[in-house]
Amino acid sequence: MKKLKFQTPTGMHDILSFEQRCFRSVINAADKIAEFYGFNRIETPILEEKELFDKGVGASTDIVQKEIFTLKSKGGDCLALRPEGTAPVVRAYIEHGMANRPQPVKLYYIGPFFRYERPQAGRYRQFWQFGLEIIGEKSPVSDTQIIQLAHGFFSDLGIKNITIEINSIGDRECRSAYYRSLTKFLRPKTKFLCTDCQKRTKENPLRVLDCKNEKCQEVIKEAPQTLNHLCTDCHLHFKRVLEYLDESEISYQLNPRLVRGLDYYTKTVFEFSTFDSEGKSLALGGGGRYDKLVEVLGGKETPAAGAAFGLERIVQIVKGLQGEQTKKLRNRVFFAQLGEKGKGKCLGLMEDFRKANITVGELLGKSSLKVQMARAAKIGAELTVIIGQRESLENLAIIRDMETGRQETVSFKNLVGEIKKRLKK
Ligand code: AMP
Repeated sequence: MKKLKFQTPTGMHDILSFEQRCFRSVINAADKIAEFYGFNRIETPILEEKELFDKGVGASTDIVQKEIFTLKSKGGDCLALRPEGTAPVVRAYIEHGMANRPQPVKLYYIGPFFRYERPQAGRYRQFWQFGLEIIGEKSPVSDTQIIQLAHGFFSDLGIKNITIEINSIGDRECRSAYYRSLTKFLRPKTKFLCTDCQKRTKENPLRVLDCKNEKCQEVIKEAPQTLNHLCTDCHLHFKRVLEYLDESEISYQLNPRLVRGLDYYTKTVFEFSTFDSEGKSLALGGGGRYDKLVEVLGGKETPAAGAAFGLERIVQIVKGLQGEQTKKLRNRVFFAQLGEKGKGKCLGLMEDFRKANITVGELLGKSSLKVQMARAAKIGAELTVIIGQRESLENLAIIRDMETGRQETVSFKNLVGEIKKRLKK
């Protein structure tokens, strides 16, 4: 295909009008369930200081090392297009003194994020996430509540076949013992690891468990498990999370290899996935506890947990489920007019319909009644309101029943009421 002069940048995509309905229905479901569980929406800027992510997400993670979009402002600040939402929300929590409010503070966000990833199916360089954070609560009940909310979100959208994988990666205390054991295991095998993981073995061995490279996957099959190195506190915390999940009748799978790709996690980590049409696993999102992040970013030590879900994939699945329903909703009423005066009267009447919450279709730019009636038939309108030249002079409207062809003339004053009556039938 001939290259156009301008196209969306690689890995970025338009969300066109025909996709908006489904996109919005997913966002509405997210808003609704988050509000139900007591989360308040927050919007943070798309740009943040790059250092926020170096410190928060971790300088040696793929997200920061390979995927972050950065720019220098004219004033010389090093900024980044946000690759994830937790570090910005925690920055806002500290900046706005939310620690002084009743705890926990429950926040959620919906918006675009940016990662310079290799473009591939379902992976974009600008993508949307729905994320949740519970800041200021150490109880395992909040880990479970986030999982429960996400579970309810997918169920409200009609998405079945959801797999929840869960693990605990411990806290700083038990992690050092685990690191020793993992490094001891990895060191003699470094030659079998990819070059990135050879470096990771020294700098951040947990990241090796996260590597997608097949060679590394083979090596880590036998790696020691975080679960066998948990201190008493982390062990008890994880046990409670699982018990709460059992009590909520949410099924999960323990995955001792699950670590997640961001450095801020402590204790619980989890991931939601489903299957594509070919049976391949499709990650929908995940999260976990991050008890050290507030402190790392300059606040007081504050326990917290959160999760984030990729909207593009969810929209794709919902589109498949909704099928025909995602097509444009039909306007049950259509406005047709003749003459300049007719057009003007229609503009005014449409406002009455908007206030009465009745959606209407129109082709006000066209003059031919035949063309307008053909459009009314095409969109499947049940009723057409016709304002001809004579009607516009006398403030009258003709209501045409599109099925029977019967027409009745009513005054403008009674129009909305008459239409309501007929739509009820
Ligand atoms: P993460 O923040 O990496 O845990 O990602 C959470 C979820 O966001 C993933 O499971 C995906 O559903 C979605 N996601 C992450 N990166 C991308 C991307 N580049 N394009 C589309 N969706 C993404």
